[in-house]
Amino acid sequence: MPSRAGKDTGNKGKWLKIVLTSPPELVDALSNFVTEMGAEGVFQENLGPQVEGDFPESPLNESVNAYLPCDVRLESRLAALRTYLQSLSEIFPEFSAPEMKTEVITDPDWGEQWKKYFKPLRVSRNIVIKPTWERYTPLGSDIVIEIDPGMAFGTGQHASTRMCLEVLEDLILTRRSPEPLNVLDVGTGTGILGIASAKLGAERVLCVDIDPKATEIAKENIAINHVEDRVSVRQEEISTLKGTYNLIVANLTANLLIKLRKKLISLLRPGGYLILSGIIDQNRRDMEAHFFHDPLILHSTITDKEWVCYVMKKETAQP
Ligand code: SAH
Repeated sequence: MPSRAGKDTGNKGKWLKIVLTSPPELVDALSNFVTEMGAEGVFQENLGPQVEGDFPESPLNESVNAYLPCDVRLESRLAALRTYLQSLSEIFPEFSAPEMKTEVITDPDWGEQWKKYFKPLRVSRNIVIKPTWERYTPLGSDIVIEIDPGMAFGTGQHASTRMCLEVLEDLILTRRSPEPLNVLDVGTGTGILGIASAKLGAERVLCVDIDPKATEIAKENIAINHVEDRVSVRQEEISTLKGTYNLIVANLTANLLIKLRKKLISLLRPGGYLILSGIIDQNRRDMEAHFFHDPLILHSTITDKEWVCYVMKKETAQP
């Protein structure tokens, strides 16, 4: 059995408390959505006027509170909630966009039930994602990645992660260049994409995340997978990064990708590939308007249900 490295990041008894602050007109829609999504303890609260004196009253003066178990379904539920919040703002541009805050709380009565949903999963021809606590006997060419997700995103079960893994496998295993492969994993979460890159053959991998919990969990998963010699982790915003990479993978959101576009391009070496994921179908046009330009050319597009992943290549002939 694989052993766990580092301190215990198990989710036993943990819940994610979600507070959605919103204009009153949207609270019913939000309550219905989180209830249908499987949240428990959903209740609405009137926060009253938030700003006194000469300032106008905040339009975000009601809240919806909800609790989600920190289990393997959490990431897809949060992704669905974010998508819903975005579509609400698009449908009702006249209202201020709801704001979401989250906090992990511990309920000692909650068991480890969630672990039964996270099983070894083949995500591509060669890659199998295995929870650290499960057994799996690898087949001939299997590349097994062990993950203990703790509170971080990235179990490989989400379409946006799975598509990145497929592309990484394809690009790295068919690469012919003699130049060492230097990978940047932007928004590493559990470290899954960085670890996969190293196991597929990348010589150097840098994983960055702005969330200190994610970087801590990524470090543990990197140790569990014995790739510390090639993979490093930093809690850092990419705006401060230096150097260039032959392959960059960024599974974020369309908004974030667009915001980070210039920096992502400047970190990419000519001839290098940029994998953009975490994009929902309705943001395709916006993404294409921002990314389908010189110096990038489209290498391929992959879709899985409503999720889209673009593989871009940076042209070699730079002025
Ligand atoms: N790479 C994993 C996790 C993706 S979730 C996977 O593919 O499954 C996105 C991660 O990006 C989160 O952990 C979040 O904390 C991080 N993130 C968000 N904005 C970021 C930024 N500007 N720079 C670095 N990381 C960021």
